[in-house]
Amino acid sequence: MKIICIGRNYVAHAKELGNEIPQEPVIFMKPDSALLRNNDPFYIPDWSNDVHYELELVVRISRLGKSIERKFANRYYSEVGLGIDFTARDLQNQLKDKGLPWEKSKAFDRSAVIGNEFIPVTELSDPASIKFQLKLNGKIVQDGDSALMIFPIDELIFQISKYFTLKIGDLIYTGTPAGVGPVKIGDQLEGFLEGRKMFDFQVK
Ligand code: ZN
Repeated sequence: MKIICIGRNYVAHAKELGNEIPQEPVIFMKPDSALLRNNDPFYIPDWSNDVHYELELVVRISRLGKSIERKFANRYYSEVGLGIDFTARDLQNQLKDKGLPWEKSKAFDRSAVIGNEFIPVTELSDPASIKFQLKLNGKIVQDGDSALMIFPIDELIFQISKYFTLKIGDLIYTGTPAGVGPVKIGDQLEGFLEGRKMFDFQVK
C-alpha cells in the first residue's frame, strides 16, 4: 500500500505557513514504513528540534482505479479515518529553501499516525462536512471541518489518479487545517472524528 498526502488544502493553514493558495493540490507520498498504529508512542527523531503535528482526515481506497472521473470518485472509498502527518518543520524549511524534495522531513519512520478504526461514509451525518479535532494535553489545538477543504475528497481522487493508480488499502491524508504546532517529550495527543476517539498516544 502507499500513503498519499495533500499539502495546503485549507486556506487558513496555507496562510499560517506563509504559503500561497494552490491552484492544484500539492501531492507527496510516504512509504508504508512511516505508519504508526495501535496508539504506539511517537519518538521525536534526534535530527530535528521542531517536529509538528498535522491532524488530517484520512480516506481509505476501497477499489482499484486510475484516471478516475470526478463524478465517479465517491465509488472508490467507503470509509474515513483520522491520522497525523508528523513533519520535521526545521528540516522541511531547509529543504524548501534549497528547492529539494521534502521526503526526509515528511516521510520518515513513524511519521504517519493512523487510528485503528475507520468510520463508514454511510454512518456520517454529513459526508461533505466531516468534523475532527486534535487535543494536545487535553486542550483542543486543531478543529477541522472537511467542508473547508480547498480540494474536496472527490476532487483529490480525480487529481491523484491522473498520476498514480489507486489500489485497495491506499491511504490519502487530505491535508491539515490551521493550528499546527510543535510536540515535546511527554505530550499526549488525542484525535476525535465525529466525536469518536480514534487515537490516543504519547510523545517520547
Ligand atoms: Zn500534512
